[in-house]
Amino acid sequence: MLEIKDVSKSFGGIKALRNVSFSLRKSEIHALIGPNGAGKTTLMNIISGIEKMDKGDIVFNGISIKDFSAYRRAQMGLARTFQNIELFGNLTVLENILIGMYVKNHKGFILSGLNFSGIDEKTKSRGISLLEYVNLSHRKGEIAKNLPVGEQRLLEIGRALATDPQLLLLDEPAAGLNTKETKNLSELIQKIRNEWEVTILIVEHDMELVMGISDMITVLNFGEVIAEDTPIAIQKNPHVISAYLGED
Ligand code: ATP
Repeated sequence: MLEIKDVSKSFGGIKALRNVSFSLRKSEIHALIGPNGAGKTTLMNIISGIEKMDKGDIVFNGISIKDFSAYRRAQMGLARTFQNIELFGNLTVLENILIGMYVKNHKGFILSGLNFSGIDEKTKSRGISLLEYVNLSHRKGEIAKNLPVGEQRLLEIGRALATDPQLLLLDEPAAGLNTKETKNLSELIQKIRNEWEVTILIVEHDMELVMGISDMITVLNFGEVIAEDTPIAIQKNPHVISAYLGED
């Protein structure tokens, strides 16, 4: 359902991505891992349309989306969360979810023009159901930026789900979470895949989480794919071990 084809990207003299190619099958959980600076976030930005690639193509359900805006990609069913959480911090938890729902249904909007008080009960109750789904309904009226990090990450996932995605990009969703929160997150990601039949691409440094939930793993090192395999095979792959340990 997603093909990353020969993608390259440089920042000045830094080659962040070099001819990166791999594919995602529908409804799989696919992890993108690699040491710091390997190019993972750059690739997530290119897939979601925040960053332009120098060369290559991204094909989503058979359509080349490389020239589409991030907004258009979101409307096509591509949703994401960010390494450095990006919520509408001054809006409530429920309003953040409602914005996700709005993105799905409208061609474009100006944030200041949103009038939450005019939102119908049906929409609101669907928003609250989504909050229940990510275990945040008790926080619905709170200002998003006041939530602890773990709950802000759940809210980002909830907002992404509110756009009714086919492909969910999760960029380091476990960063800043404790062991219990990480375990809950791992269960939530698997539940989302099973119940929403959504395809998930996850960038994550927590190897226990990655190995526990992924169907396939692609490993980047210095902007290049060095391995693509199942979790069990990746753990034994000498190129991957050496990339992480920095030695042969
Ligand atoms: P981490 O695991 O630390 O988040 P990463 O694998 O996500 O790392 P990227 O953030 O994609 O790696 O960075 C890849 C390379 O590109 C790094 O050398 C980084 O310094 C560089 N880079 C990324 N974004 C920019 C930018 N906007 N301008 C200049 N260099 C950049």
